[in-house]
Amino acid sequence: MLGQMMTKPLLISSMLDHAELYHGDTPIYSVETAGGLVTTSWGEVAANARRVGSVLSALGLEPQARVATLAWNNRRHLEVYYGISGAGFVCHTINPRLHPEQLVYILNHAQDKVLFIDATFLPLVAAVGDKLPDLDHVVLMGPRDDDAAAKVPGLKFYDELIATGDAGFQWPEFDENTASSLCYTSGTTGHPKGVLYSHRSTVLHAFASNTRDCIGYSARDVVMPVVPMFHVNAWGTPYACAMSGSSMVMPGPDLHGEALVKLIDDLGVTVALGVPTIWQGLLAYAAQSGSKLDSLERTVIGGSACPPVMIDTFRDSYGVDTVHAWGMTEMSPLGSSNTPLAKHMKLPVEEQRKLRENQGRPPFGVDLKIVGDDGEDLPRDGTTQGDLVVRGHWVLDSYFRREDEDTLQDGWFNTGDVATLDADGYLTIRDRSKDIIKSGGEWISSVELENIAVAHPKLATAAVIGVPHPKWDERPLLIAVKAEGQDPSEEELLAYFDGKIAKWQTPDRVVFVEALPLGATGKVLKRDLRDQFQDVLTG
Ligand code: ADP
Repeated sequence: MLGQMMTKPLLISSMLDHAELYHGDTPIYSVETAGGLVTTSWGEVAANARRVGSVLSALGLEPQARVATLAWNNRRHLEVYYGISGAGFVCHTINPRLHPEQLVYILNHAQDKVLFIDATFLPLVAAVGDKLPDLDHVVLMGPRDDDAAAKVPGLKFYDELIATGDAGFQWPEFDENTASSLCYTSGTTGHPKGVLYSHRSTVLHAFASNTRDCIGYSARDVVMPVVPMFHVNAWGTPYACAMSGSSMVMPGPDLHGEALVKLIDDLGVTVALGVPTIWQGLLAYAAQSGSKLDSLERTVIGGSACPPVMIDTFRDSYGVDTVHAWGMTEMSPLGSSNTPLAKHMKLPVEEQRKLRENQGRPPFGVDLKIVGDDGEDLPRDGTTQGDLVVRGHWVLDSYFRREDEDTLQDGWFNTGDVATLDADGYLTIRDRSKDIIKSGGEWISSVELENIAVAHPKLATAAVIGVPHPKWDERPLLIAVKAEGQDPSEEELLAYFDGKIAKWQTPDRVVFVEALPLGATGKVLKRDLRDQFQDVLTG
């Protein structure tokens, strides 16, 4: 016997309908690519999204045709997100920091028909435009601009286009398992691979994000996704915030500390999300300017390990709670977030703080386990380390247009991370399996060494890699960026590890660099560092 409840498909458009009906006046602040702040609202975003949907439908695209975006976090990008998916097409967000060759590969692999771009990316599109046989339309997200028109043949202009659109357009209803959006993984090896989300997985992910122990946005929050909309859908904020009726601050192209601190202070941001490298800049500027980040209540930090010193600084200097989260493109991205259990609240404060440092526990909807080399389940004892595998409602089943490959093992997706899990399900990422350091048959976590190093007051940032060693196979090497005006010695940095880890885990050497190489999503490119410094201990 089936239940006798309504079957209403879980569609992305329904989240926007909700935001429009119940939170129509709630402000959406947008830093424009050309500069300046524009204030709009969920009501206006919804009307323009319907205009976008009507215009795309009138182009006669096939259902689920891919429509790409190359854009910063701004109001038009938000409208385009909903307009594309809502009308039954697939919103393909592209990371503009990719190498142009990878960009061409991705656009062609996805067979994108339409491309919405911010003005910043005009030169990029002008340079590769003739290598994109499937692409029929390029739309500049702004008003008419004759200089731009001269650069890209047939260029269309967003503001003109939506003026011809229909704000009364009706969102179509279809199967909730229909593809909604597409994001390619950064692809450190081989070609990038596409993760094709569905309406159902996106809505369920938004529900989970909105549970109180996950992120739990509220209609009283002002949410600033610093994480870009081309990086796993800005971790789902455009959807979860519409569902909860939160106000949003879309920070545009300038993600430096000064610009972000100003937005937080001027607009009363309560929740901000991003990768650790972003917060380094923000904290440095806040300290320099004397801002107290008064409105900010929470930061959500993930994408790479959040150093404990960052959590401490937010809490002790600004009264801001940090939710350390872990996830990946293949998981939409949310896999876990660190919030306490009732029993933790009875512990001494120091112990409570320690427990907040790891990557947290999964929300309902994600299963995690760690397995050994033969795929056997390993104990959840907080110390046994193994390969982290996952499954769940918003975890991928197969990569886009690579359906014949075996992506899962016994129904689980291997994350490529090495981790421990404790009895309560709290996850500690020890390393990516390709970054973990293998020294004399023992494993050393580069993340653990980095967490110690970045707490040194004379360092701005640091990375640890394994480099070849004649006796131990690999040994850790600390690559350090000095804090402004500081000149620490190699000896004092190495001495800083004393008593914090076993002696044999201490890096063998320190090399100083001006800056660390960062990838397209703001993560340190350890592969580049390994190439550059592989001879340090053998040469
Ligand atoms: P995202 O786009 O969210 O960064 P990617 O797919 O690019 O996802 O990368 C996912 C990988 O990033 C994870 O497998 C893990 O190695 C790393 N990662 C993400 N969050 C964390 C975290 N909080 N701590 C440590 N590593 C993390």
